[in-house]
Amino acid sequence: MFPIDHDLHCHTFVSGCSLDPEQNPAAILAFAKAHGYTAMCTTDHLWDPAAPGVFTCYKRQTMELQKSILPLPREDGVRFEFGCETEWRGIVDGAPLLGLAPEHYGEFGFIIVPPNHFHFRPFVRPDDCDTPEKVAELLVTRLEELQSVPLPWEKVGIAHMNCGLIFKEGRPSDVFDAIDEDRYRAAMRFFAEKGAGIELNCSSFGNPDFAEHPESHFRLFRMAKDEGCRFYLGSDAHHPAELMDVPNRAPAIVEALGLTSKHLYRLP
Ligand SMILES: [Zn+2]
Ligand SMILES: [Zn+2]
Repeated sequence: MFPIDHDLHCHTFVSGCSLDPEQNPAAILAFAKAHGYTAMCTTDHLWDPAAPGVFTCYKRQTMELQKSILPLPREDGVRFEFGCETEWRGIVDGAPLLGLAPEHYGEFGFIIVPPNHFHFRPFVRPDDCDTPEKVAELLVTRLEELQSVPLPWEKVGIAHMNCGLIFKEGRPSDVFDAIDEDRYRAAMRFFAEKGAGIELNCSSFGNPDFAEHPESHFRLFRMAKDEGCRFYLGSDAHHPAELMDVPNRAPAIVEALGLTSKHLYRLP
């Protein structure tokens, strides 16, 4: 069985899209304990001031703000890890633009890289990238470009591959259907070989597009599974009630994908 015993993608009140005082480390840890989790991880949004360039909505998401929730509370039986969800803009003018500077990799126990925050235009997605085919091409290119970043891959998670933010003006499933299989599989093989985790984002599986076109969404994870990837669960909760997305949605997803304990990613 693939254990529903962890949530490695969760925001606290320091994320600008949360700001909910009830979404605090003590409450998150209490939820994890109550649900029998063995691992929980905070992953607030981060654009490290030591990384080049910044975008308006990331200006407040500094290292200093991120670390203001430390030290995290402790509870027997639950590993509570301090992580981050940074940003990936690909290679621009020859330079990899990741929102986390190498000198700060060691500050985090887990680093989530979202390859598809394509609602940030033109910061992450160029304005002329405006059809499902072009967006699919951009996603695969970003996955390929990411491989040139010397990340500590064993503690890296590739976030929400089937996130609706990838194409808000249309159907995300049209993008997933248009993804080049060979290139996507090669990228997944790289992540598998490096020991990175692939996220099953339980918020993304609540998107109506998933209910209408489940196989288009599952396609991304079936290919990853074939290539030897390991997976972890994440609620992407910004408020306490959203933490329930993991216990509510993960069992059906895990079953549909045929995942067992051998497909499980664990924090190093
Ligand atoms: Zn995200
Ligand atoms: Zn998130």
